Amino acid sequence: MRTKLAAGNWKMNGLSAGLDQLSEMETAASGAAEVLICPPATLVASAASRDGSIAIGGQDCHAAASGAHTGDISAEMLADAGATYVILGHSERRTDHDEHDDEVRAKCKAAWEAGLKVVLCVGESEAQRDAQNTLDIIGGQLAGSIPDGATGHNLVVAYEPIWAIGTGKVPTTDQIGEVHDFMRARLEKRFGEGVGRSVRLLYGGSVKPGNATEIFAVSNVDGALVGGASLKASDFVPIIEALN
Ligand code: PGA
Repeated sequence: MRTKLAAGNWKMNGLSAGLDQLSEMETAASGAAEVLICPPATLVASAASRDGSIAIGGQDCHAAASGAHTGDISAEMLADAGATYVILGHSERRTDHDEHDDEVRAKCKAAWEAGLKVVLCVGESEAQRDAQNTLDIIGGQLAGSIPDGATGHNLVVAYEPIWAIGTGKVPTTDQIGEVHDFMRARLEKRFGEGVGRSVRLLYGGSVKPGNATEIFAVSNVDGALVGGASLKASDFVPIIEALN
């Protein structure tokens, strides 16, 4: 059985005072579902030094282990700061920093070498969906971004349609199910049934307390990657509880 995962992506939000929200999430985080918060890099070490059951992750890492890369952070540094996960290939990284599949794949390898688990993001644009290219795009991103060596332990895949991120627009449950079933099949084909069935698949994009239960009932949805609604415990706790 796959352990459900409620993952929060704080993006470029959060100052030290925001860590109070973690304490408020803690009771819900001791249930059946695993809870992960990926705060900005400045807060990873202090978030990870708290007692409690919330796992902490980074939002990106460099593909190199160290070196002359001003402003960047290596996977080993995240692990050293107490992170156990890292989000890679988020559409905002792919857009803002022109990241392509080969770079995401190299980062994923670096993260695994440092012992981090990866939440690998894939997703189509609205134009790609309108052109009925969604499954081709997702299939290409899965093939291009995930290195050999994936396991149910080191990889989580998040399906995040770009048009649903921060917009309040959410795909229908049929649309989510179609993509998640497709991703499961692709992972089973490439990595074998055992591994393919053990990788957790998250849905992300405008997940809120009001739509979480319906989304979590879709087949092959093992949790959510939540942006805006993960910033405040009052929003994130009901989402965690919908998975518990
Ligand atoms: P959102 O973001 O929940 O604010 O739509 C999701 C994400 O980008 O991970």
